[in-house]
Amino acid sequence: MIKVCFWGTRGSLPVSITADTVRAKLHRALKTARNFDVSTDETIETFINEQLSFSDWGSYGGNTSCVEIRDNSEYVLCDAGSGLRDFGNFIMKSGRGKNSCVYNIFISHLHWDHIQGFPFFTPAFIPGNKINIYGFHTELRETFIRQQEYPNFPVPLKIMRAAIDFHVLELEKEYEIAGYKVTGMKQTHPGDSYGYSFVKDGKKIVYSTDSEHKDSALELIKFFDGADLLIFDAQYSLLDAIDTKENWGHSSNILGVELSVNANVKRLCLFHHEPAYSDETIEQIYNDTVEYSEIASPEHPVKVDMAYDGLEIDIV
Ligand SMILES: [Zn+2]
Ligand SMILES: [Zn+2]
Repeated sequence: MIKVCFWGTRGSLPVSITADTVRAKLHRALKTARNFDVSTDETIETFINEQLSFSDWGSYGGNTSCVEIRDNSEYVLCDAGSGLRDFGNFIMKSGRGKNSCVYNIFISHLHWDHIQGFPFFTPAFIPGNKINIYGFHTELRETFIRQQEYPNFPVPLKIMRAAIDFHVLELEKEYEIAGYKVTGMKQTHPGDSYGYSFVKDGKKIVYSTDSEHKDSALELIKFFDGADLLIFDAQYSLLDAIDTKENWGHSSNILGVELSVNANVKRLCLFHHEPAYSDETIEQIYNDTVEYSEIASPEHPVKVDMAYDGLEIDIV
Protein backbone atom coordinates (compact mmCIF):
# COMPACT_ATOMS: atom_id res chain seq x y z
CA MET A 1 0.00 0.00 0.00
CA ILE A 2 1.11 3.56 -0.72
CA LYS A 3 1.23 6.01 2.15
CA VAL A 4 1.93 9.72 1.79
CA CYS A 5 3.79 11.21 4.76
CA PHE A 6 4.13 14.95 5.26
CA TRP A 7 7.46 16.07 6.77
CA GLY A 8 7.24 19.76 5.91
CA THR A 9 4.06 21.66 5.05
CA ARG A 10 4.72 25.36 5.65
CA GLY A 11 5.39 27.72 2.75
CA SER A 12 8.23 30.16 2.22
CA LEU A 13 10.14 29.70 5.49
CA PRO A 14 10.03 27.47 8.57
CA VAL A 15 7.81 28.64 11.40
CA SER A 16 8.51 27.59 14.97
CA ILE A 17 5.90 27.53 17.68
CA THR A 18 6.50 30.01 20.53
CA ALA A 19 6.11 29.54 24.28
CA ASP A 20 3.22 32.02 24.26
CA THR A 21 1.40 30.00 21.60
CA VAL A 22 1.86 26.74 23.54
CA ARG A 23 0.66 28.47 26.71
CA ALA A 24 -2.44 29.85 24.97
CA LYS A 25 -3.28 26.34 23.67
CA LEU A 26 -2.79 24.87 27.13
CA HIS A 27 -4.93 27.56 28.71
CA ARG A 28 -7.75 26.94 26.21
CA ALA A 29 -7.59 23.17 26.71
CA LEU A 30 -7.66 23.41 30.52
CA LYS A 31 -10.55 25.85 30.41
CA THR A 32 -12.55 23.48 28.22
CA ALA A 33 -11.60 20.56 30.48
CA ARG A 34 -13.37 22.12 33.48
CA ASN A 35 -16.63 20.47 32.50
CA PHE A 36 -15.26 17.05 31.59
CA ASP A 37 -13.87 14.01 33.34
CA VAL A 38 -10.11 14.02 32.80
CA SER A 39 -9.22 11.89 35.81
CA THR A 40 -7.60 8.97 33.91
CA ASP A 41 -5.28 8.62 30.89
CA GLU A 42 -8.17 7.16 28.92
CA THR A 43 -10.60 9.99 29.68
CA ILE A 44 -7.88 12.53 28.84
CA GLU A 45 -7.46 10.92 25.41
CA THR A 46 -11.24 10.87 24.88
CA PHE A 47 -11.43 14.51 25.94
CA ILE A 48 -8.69 15.53 23.48
CA ASN A 49 -10.28 13.55 20.65
CA GLU A 50 -13.85 14.67 21.21
CA GLN A 51 -13.74 18.13 22.76
CA LEU A 52 -10.66 19.85 21.34
CA SER A 53 -10.02 20.99 17.81
CA PHE A 54 -6.72 20.35 16.03
CA SER A 55 -5.54 23.91 16.62
CA ASP A 56 -6.11 23.40 20.39
CA TRP A 57 -3.82 20.40 20.71
CA GLY A 58 -1.68 20.49 17.57
CA SER A 59 0.03 22.81 15.15
CA TYR A 60 0.24 23.05 11.39
CA GLY A 61 3.95 23.60 11.86
CA GLY A 62 6.65 23.93 11.05
CA ASN A 63 9.00 22.76 8.36
CA THR A 64 9.11 23.82 4.72
CA SER A 65 8.06 21.50 1.88
CA CYS A 66 8.96 17.84 2.04
CA VAL A 67 6.53 15.01 1.28
CA GLU A 68 7.36 11.30 1.22
CA ILE A 69 5.50 8.84 -0.99
CA ARG A 70 6.10 5.59 0.85
CA ASP A 71 5.72 1.99 -0.23
CA ASN A 72 8.05 -0.96 -0.11
CA SER A 73 10.47 0.16 -2.81
CA GLU A 74 13.04 2.97 -3.03
CA TYR A 75 12.37 6.21 -1.16
CA VAL A 76 10.45 8.87 -3.06
CA LEU A 77 10.32 12.44 -1.81
CA CYS A 78 8.91 15.68 -3.15
CA ASP A 79 11.09 18.68 -2.37
CA ALA A 80 13.96 19.07 0.07
CA GLY A 81 12.68 21.79 2.39
CA SER A 82 13.54 21.74 6.08
CA GLY A 83 11.18 18.76 6.55
CA LEU A 84 13.85 16.63 4.83
CA ARG A 85 15.97 16.94 7.97
CA ASP A 86 13.25 15.31 10.08
CA PHE A 87 12.76 12.60 7.46
CA GLY A 88 16.52 11.88 7.53
CA ASN A 89 16.52 11.73 11.33
CA PHE A 90 13.58 9.31 11.21
CA ILE A 91 15.49 7.08 8.78
CA MET A 92 18.62 7.17 10.97
CA LYS A 93 16.63 6.34 14.10
CA SER A 94 14.96 3.41 12.34
CA GLY A 95 18.44 1.99 11.64
CA ARG A 96 17.94 2.07 7.86
CA GLY A 97 20.24 5.05 7.28
CA LYS A 98 23.29 2.85 6.77
CA ASN A 99 21.60 0.24 4.58
CA SER A 100 22.76 1.50 1.17
CA CYS A 101 19.33 2.87 0.30
CA VAL A 102 18.21 4.78 -2.78
CA TYR A 103 16.51 8.16 -2.25
CA ASN A 104 14.72 9.82 -5.16
CA ILE A 105 14.01 13.49 -4.49
CA PHE A 106 11.81 15.43 -6.93
CA ILE A 107 12.30 19.19 -6.78
CA SER A 108 9.41 21.47 -7.75
CA HIS A 109 11.71 24.48 -8.14
CA LEU A 110 14.84 25.99 -6.69
CA HIS A 111 13.48 28.56 -4.25
CA TRP A 112 15.29 28.23 -0.96
CA ASP A 113 12.33 26.83 0.99
CA HIS A 114 12.37 23.78 -1.32
CA ILE A 115 16.05 22.89 -1.03
CA GLN A 116 17.18 24.21 2.36
CA GLY A 117 16.83 20.85 4.15
CA PHE A 118 19.40 19.05 2.00
CA PRO A 119 22.57 20.18 3.87
CA PHE A 120 21.02 18.63 7.02
CA PHE A 121 19.95 15.33 5.40
CA THR A 122 22.06 12.83 7.35
CA PRO A 123 21.74 9.87 4.88
CA ALA A 124 23.55 12.09 2.32
CA PHE A 125 26.69 11.90 4.49
CA ILE A 126 26.77 8.09 4.55
CA PRO A 127 28.78 6.18 1.92
CA GLY A 128 26.78 3.49 0.14
CA ASN A 129 23.60 5.53 -0.03
CA LYS A 130 22.49 6.75 -3.43
CA ILE A 131 20.59 9.98 -3.86
CA ASN A 132 18.92 10.95 -7.13
CA ILE A 133 17.80 14.55 -7.31
CA TYR A 134 15.33 15.23 -10.11
CA GLY A 135 14.05 18.54 -11.40
CA PHE A 136 13.24 20.50 -14.53
CA HIS A 137 15.46 23.55 -13.95
CA THR A 138 18.77 23.34 -15.78
CA GLU A 139 20.48 25.03 -12.80
CA LEU A 140 19.52 22.12 -10.51
CA ARG A 141 23.02 20.84 -9.71
CA GLU A 142 24.61 24.27 -9.57
CA THR A 143 22.00 25.56 -7.10
CA PHE A 144 22.50 22.65 -4.70
CA ILE A 145 26.27 23.10 -4.88
CA ARG A 146 26.03 26.86 -4.34
CA GLN A 147 23.77 26.45 -1.33
CA GLN A 148 26.60 24.70 0.52
CA GLU A 149 29.47 26.88 -0.67
CA TYR A 150 31.36 29.36 1.48
CA PRO A 151 30.08 31.56 3.11
CA ASN A 152 26.57 30.01 3.03
CA PHE A 153 27.38 26.74 4.79
CA PRO A 154 30.44 25.09 6.35
CA VAL A 155 30.17 21.72 4.57
CA PRO A 156 30.42 21.67 0.76
CA LEU A 157 28.22 19.23 -1.13
CA LYS A 158 31.28 17.31 -2.37
CA ILE A 159 32.08 16.32 1.24
CA MET A 160 28.81 14.39 1.45
CA ARG A 161 29.76 10.73 1.04
CA ALA A 162 26.60 9.33 -0.56
CA ALA A 163 26.54 9.07 -4.37
CA ILE A 164 24.53 12.14 -5.34
CA ASP A 165 23.31 12.42 -8.92
CA PHE A 166 21.33 15.23 -10.50
CA HIS A 167 18.86 14.53 -13.30
CA VAL A 168 17.31 17.32 -15.35
CA LEU A 169 13.95 16.07 -16.66
CA GLU A 170 12.06 16.98 -19.81
CA LEU A 171 8.39 17.89 -19.87
CA GLU A 172 7.28 15.78 -22.81
CA LYS A 173 8.73 12.56 -21.41
CA GLU A 174 7.28 9.97 -19.04
CA TYR A 175 9.81 8.46 -16.64
CA GLU A 176 9.79 5.15 -14.78
CA ILE A 177 11.34 5.81 -11.35
CA ALA A 178 11.03 3.59 -8.26
CA GLY A 179 8.19 1.77 -10.03
CA TYR A 180 6.22 5.01 -10.59
CA LYS A 181 5.32 6.51 -13.93
CA VAL A 182 6.43 10.10 -13.40
CA THR A 183 5.44 13.10 -15.49
CA GLY A 184 5.78 16.83 -14.93
CA MET A 185 3.81 20.00 -15.60
CA LYS A 186 5.09 23.57 -15.83
CA GLN A 187 3.36 25.94 -13.39
CA THR A 188 3.01 29.71 -13.02
CA HIS A 189 5.42 30.90 -10.33
CA PRO A 190 8.31 33.39 -10.23
CA GLY A 191 11.15 31.54 -12.01
CA ASP A 192 8.71 28.70 -12.91
CA SER A 193 7.84 25.65 -10.86
CA TYR A 194 6.85 22.12 -11.84
CA GLY A 195 4.15 19.77 -10.62
CA TYR A 196 4.64 16.01 -10.59
CA SER A 197 2.26 13.12 -11.23
CA PHE A 198 3.17 9.71 -9.79
CA VAL A 199 1.23 6.64 -10.96
CA LYS A 200 1.69 3.12 -9.62
CA ASP A 201 -0.65 0.12 -9.28
CA GLY A 202 -3.57 2.17 -10.60
CA LYS A 203 -3.06 4.88 -7.96
CA LYS A 204 -2.25 8.46 -8.86
CA ILE A 205 -0.70 11.10 -6.61
CA VAL A 206 -0.17 14.65 -7.84
CA TYR A 207 2.18 17.08 -6.12
CA SER A 208 1.46 20.63 -7.24
CA THR A 209 2.96 23.32 -5.08
CA ASP A 210 4.11 26.91 -5.61
CA SER A 211 1.73 27.53 -8.42
CA GLU A 212 -0.66 30.35 -9.13
CA HIS A 213 -3.50 28.79 -11.09
CA LYS A 214 -5.48 31.71 -12.32
CA ASP A 215 -8.13 29.71 -14.10
CA SER A 216 -9.15 26.13 -14.62
CA ALA A 217 -6.97 25.56 -17.68
CA LEU A 218 -7.73 22.33 -19.49
CA GLU A 219 -4.11 21.26 -19.32
CA LEU A 220 -4.23 21.48 -15.54
CA ILE A 221 -7.42 19.47 -15.23
CA LYS A 222 -5.91 16.81 -17.47
CA PHE A 223 -2.82 16.66 -15.27
CA PHE A 224 -4.90 16.36 -12.07
CA ASP A 225 -7.47 14.02 -13.69
CA GLY A 226 -8.68 11.23 -11.43
CA ALA A 227 -5.93 11.73 -8.83
CA ASP A 228 -6.38 9.68 -5.67
CA LEU A 229 -4.59 12.49 -3.88
CA LEU A 230 -3.82 16.03 -5.00
CA ILE A 231 -1.33 17.93 -2.85
CA PHE A 232 -2.13 21.52 -3.69
CA ASP A 233 -0.56 24.89 -2.94
CA ALA A 234 -3.26 26.78 -1.05
CA GLN A 235 -0.99 29.29 0.61
CA TYR A 236 -3.65 31.99 0.73
CA SER A 237 -7.29 32.30 1.62
CA LEU A 238 -9.36 33.25 -1.43
CA LEU A 239 -9.60 36.86 -0.25
CA ASP A 240 -5.82 37.23 0.06
CA ALA A 241 -5.24 35.38 -3.23
CA ILE A 242 -7.35 37.78 -5.29
CA ASP A 243 -6.65 40.91 -3.28
CA THR A 244 -3.24 41.61 -1.76
CA LYS A 245 -1.33 38.54 -2.97
CA GLU A 246 -2.23 38.42 -6.66
CA ASN A 247 0.82 37.50 -8.80
CA TRP A 248 2.77 36.24 -5.78
CA GLY A 249 2.76 32.80 -7.39
CA HIS A 250 0.42 30.87 -5.08
CA SER A 251 -3.16 29.63 -5.10
CA SER A 252 -6.16 29.47 -2.78
CA ASN A 253 -8.22 26.79 -1.05
CA ILE A 254 -11.32 27.58 -3.12
CA LEU A 255 -9.50 27.15 -6.43
CA GLY A 256 -8.17 23.84 -5.11
CA VAL A 257 -11.73 22.60 -4.61
CA GLU A 258 -12.91 23.84 -8.00
CA LEU A 259 -10.04 22.22 -9.87
CA SER A 260 -10.51 19.00 -7.86
CA VAL A 261 -14.22 18.83 -8.71
CA ASN A 262 -13.52 19.42 -12.40
CA ALA A 263 -10.71 16.86 -12.47
CA ASN A 264 -12.55 14.19 -10.42
CA VAL A 265 -9.88 14.28 -7.73
CA LYS A 266 -10.73 11.96 -4.82
CA ARG A 267 -8.82 13.67 -2.05
CA LEU A 268 -7.42 17.18 -1.85
CA CYS A 269 -4.67 18.08 0.59
CA LEU A 270 -4.07 21.81 1.11
CA PHE A 271 -0.37 22.50 1.46
CA HIS A 272 2.38 25.18 1.69
CA HIS A 273 0.67 27.28 4.35
CA GLU A 274 1.32 30.99 4.60
CA PRO A 275 3.95 31.51 7.36
CA ALA A 276 2.08 34.52 8.77
CA TYR A 277 -1.12 32.50 9.42
CA SER A 278 -1.81 31.17 12.92
CA ASP A 279 -3.05 27.62 13.56
CA GLU A 280 -6.51 29.08 14.19
CA THR A 281 -6.52 30.90 10.83
CA ILE A 282 -5.39 27.77 8.97
CA GLU A 283 -8.06 25.74 10.76
CA GLN A 284 -10.69 28.30 9.76
CA ILE A 285 -9.54 28.03 6.12
CA TYR A 286 -9.82 24.24 6.44
CA ASN A 287 -13.39 24.47 7.81
CA ASP A 288 -14.38 26.92 5.05
CA THR A 289 -12.88 24.61 2.43
CA VAL A 290 -14.81 21.57 3.70
CA GLU A 291 -17.99 23.63 3.66
CA TYR A 292 -17.26 24.89 0.15
CA SER A 293 -16.52 21.39 -1.14
CA GLU A 294 -19.95 20.26 0.10
CA ILE A 295 -21.58 23.14 -1.78
CA ALA A 296 -19.43 22.72 -4.92
CA SER A 297 -20.17 19.02 -5.30
CA PRO A 298 -23.01 17.97 -2.96
CA GLU A 299 -23.28 14.44 -4.40
CA HIS A 300 -19.60 13.56 -4.01
CA PRO A 301 -17.80 16.26 -2.03
CA VAL A 302 -14.03 16.10 -2.41
CA LYS A 303 -12.42 14.87 0.78
CA VAL A 304 -10.27 17.73 2.07
CA ASP A 305 -7.22 17.50 4.33
CA MET A 306 -5.14 20.31 5.76
CA ALA A 307 -1.51 19.22 5.66
CA TYR A 308 0.52 19.36 8.86
CA ASP A 309 3.96 18.02 9.71
CA GLY A 310 3.32 14.39 10.71
CA LEU A 311 0.14 13.87 8.68
CA GLU A 312 0.00 10.46 6.96
CA ILE A 313 -2.53 9.61 4.26
CA ASP A 314 -3.14 6.05 3.08
CA ILE A 315 -3.86 5.84 -0.63
CA VAL A 316 -6.67 3.27 -0.79
ZN1 LIG B 1 7.64 27.55 -1.65
ZN1 LIG C 1 8.56 29.31 -4.68
